[in-house]
Amino acid sequence: MEESIEINGNRIRLEFVKKPWIRNSYLKFNGDRLVVVSRSERMMQKVVSSHRPWIARHYNQIRSSIRMFDSNSIFYGSLKYNVGYVQAGTRAKADMIGSNLIIYAPDRTAAERLIDRMVRDDTERLVPEIAAAKSKQIGRPYRAVKTRKSRRWGVCRSDGTITFNYCISMLPKRLQDYIVSHEVAHLREMNHSAGFWEVVSTLCPDYKRLRRELRDYDNTRRRVLDGPESSRHGAMGSIPGL
Ligand SMILES: [Zn+2]
Repeated sequence: MEESIEINGNRIRLEFVKKPWIRNSYLKFNGDRLVVVSRSERMMQKVVSSHRPWIARHYNQIRSSIRMFDSNSIFYGSLKYNVGYVQAGTRAKADMIGSNLIIYAPDRTAAERLIDRMVRDDTERLVPEIAAAKSKQIGRPYRAVKTRKSRRWGVCRSDGTITFNYCISMLPKRLQDYIVSHEVAHLREMNHSAGFWEVVSTLCPDYKRLRRELRDYDNTRRRVLDGPESSRHGAMGSIPGL
């Protein structure tokens, strides 16, 4: 059912989605259309009237915004989000609405910097935990786990320091698992011998398929990122290896 409401002289298109089984109503914008999910028409009217300031604020933000570049998707906290960029405000901020991650930023650089920071924080939160569990599994402690911007997904040095690419959190969980297993296995075997792959297989039984998947992922990404417009030196422009 579609109707409209008037707030501060603006006629806002409204879509009512009726879900009789839900307890709490919620509101969201889909483009410049307000979507209200509620169990009844009466509840819908109620939530709309009690959220008029919220609706006005978001509507203005959306109307004054310009779409910066096409939607893309990233993994964040191992969930997949569609990323939309909106030019607005003076400081970059992110809003998660369902499976959409909306970045509001004054320009593209600020938006990319924010995504970079979110991705890095996420990697620093997720990866050491996986590495700790895996190194325990093979009884080989590491010296340190670090994250940094790198051309490679991971590197394990002979002193036991493992450095991971800070973008790992953008990958599906299974690929993160493979990358960490690979580097941790180097704590036992500092080479890519048959013995090394045996250690990898105990940490990550499905490694053969995942290794191929990661290679495909890198190749697709290279095609996307190395198009005519993009620089090889951009944040996501390099192709990590292992
Ligand atoms: Zn390796």
